[in-house]
Amino acid sequence: MGFLKQEHGYTDEQLAEAVKAIDLRDGRLDGNAAKAPPKACPRCQRLNSAKFSRCLYCGAPLPVALFAG
Ligand SMILES: [Zn+2]
Repeated sequence: MGFLKQEHGYTDEQLAEAVKAIDLRDGRLDGNAAKAPPKACPRCQRLNSAKFSRCLYCGAPLPVALFAG
């Protein structure tokens, strides 16, 4: 389903700029639009966005970030 990119005529560079613009919404250029830093999977050690509760790669539960209070 790669037709979207082709249809809109975006180049990879333009898409990267768009991602960067989104990333800068929180005032930091750190590759993550969320405030929480990425979490390393306890099983496979790969980094997952803090918004995920399970590893995208191996499905292991990730440590839960506590946002309360
Ligand atoms: Zn994992």
